[in-house]
Amino acid sequence: MRFPLAPTVKIARHIVRNRLQGNAKFAMVLQLEPLHTCNLTCTGCGRIREYSTSIKDVVPLDKCLAVAAECDAPMISICGGEPLIYPRIEELVAGLREQGRMVYICTNGVFMRKKMRDYLAASYTPATEPVLQRLLGEKLVSEAEAEAIRNAKPEARAKVVIRPSPWHYWNVHVDGLEFTHDLIVEREGVFKECVAAIRMAKLLGYQVATNTTVYKETDVAELEEMFKFLSSLGVDGHTISPGYDYDAAKKDMVKRLGKDPKDFFLTRDLTRQKFRDVQRWGEMFTLFGTPGYLEFLAGHRELACSAWAVPTYNIRGWKAPCYVMTDTHYPTYSDMLGKVDWNRFGVDEKGCGRDPRCENCMMHSGFEPTAALSSGLRDTWVNFKYNFGSRPAPYPASPDLERGAFNGASIGKGHLAEAKAAVNHGLAGARSAYAHAGNDLPHEHAHAVAASDACGTGDTSQRDALLAKIQAGGKPGAP
Ligand code: SF4
Repeated sequence: MRFPLAPTVKIARHIVRNRLQGNAKFAMVLQLEPLHTCNLTCTGCGRIREYSTSIKDVVPLDKCLAVAAECDAPMISICGGEPLIYPRIEELVAGLREQGRMVYICTNGVFMRKKMRDYLAASYTPATEPVLQRLLGEKLVSEAEAEAIRNAKPEARAKVVIRPSPWHYWNVHVDGLEFTHDLIVEREGVFKECVAAIRMAKLLGYQVATNTTVYKETDVAELEEMFKFLSSLGVDGHTISPGYDYDAAKKDMVKRLGKDPKDFFLTRDLTRQKFRDVQRWGEMFTLFGTPGYLEFLAGHRELACSAWAVPTYNIRGWKAPCYVMTDTHYPTYSDMLGKVDWNRFGVDEKGCGRDPRCENCMMHSGFEPTAALSSGLRDTWVNFKYNFGSRPAPYPASPDLERGAFNGASIGKGHLAEAKAAVNHGLAGARSAYAHAGNDLPHEHAHAVAASDACGTGDTSQRDALLAKIQAGGKPGAP
């Protein structure tokens, strides 16, 4: 099976129950954003820009648990921001589990190993020592960290921790192999950390999924290599979705990076070109989702939008109409269900946007539930076969695969990586995610961004100086 049996049964029961109760619209997955704070400033992420004025606010734990109970979605995707920064993330996961829900923690992977060390410290006994030795042997924990785990203080032993469970997935953001991923997250070293965290999680018995957004500059051949590599690490499943130029992400493109969003985000036609192999990938790798959504991505069918099935709750309330667009926030899920005119959104039978902002959207949060909830005989049978059929075998690990994955040049620091990568273009044999109109140098007004428009610390002076030198034909010094 692609997905553990018990949660699959729970989800099927949820659908049947709602249908028997005559509910035409109901929640399948809650996108819970307990905070928008993040340690990264990924290109294409609208959240840290759209909610910049409330970036330090958090949804209280009891409110998070109450909204999950209110919408009663069987699956909760804790996203943000970076959810592992949420001060009570462990209690949140435990509380959602007590409610019987499947929990995905959508993380950039940077703090995962810390959370797993907390689990090891809370559960350490001499019988755990062989596992610790293995982690040491694979350099996934340091000697000092292993010692701290063995000698954990009583408060660390009593701490609520995130334990391995068939009802929980780490859902790690990976947008490509090393070079591409580090450029997109605008910080080098993140890919390496994600891979280390995935290895450690698999060794400790956690379930791991990955999520990938595909942009215009994404190289399809690289995506297939990425899936092979992730599969060889034992990753349990992958979600993949096209990058879409929603307002907040579009503004960031223009203001902070000086890029034309058309060069970065996908139109519907381009999405179909990029995803032409997605059904073959669905047979080779454990892609989560439904065959119907994969057919839609590949351009073999149309689907209506069911954004109401994947609602988003954050510090301002229930975000309407969907995960990517914000017209308003409602105080309750039922309020949102009743007051939004859902017929105004999505696409018509010809695939044209009912709202101009929906024109290019093929996001899984809008369209995946339509395929999953379809009661057509063919869809029901195909979905059943896909989920209950055998899971694709892990791709065999090999030194070549590993070398291909770590294709990046670890140069520069943080936001400097894009500039240095542009200077050293050709170095890694990968294309710069910042290429513009076929030119591997950054866009000409990239360095004219005002500090107040930037995310993170807002200090772009080092990057701007580098970009100026590049444009003047100078080469910055070695890192
Ligand atoms: S098609 Fe649906 S998910 Fe996409 S932007 Fe429109 S309302 Fe949102």
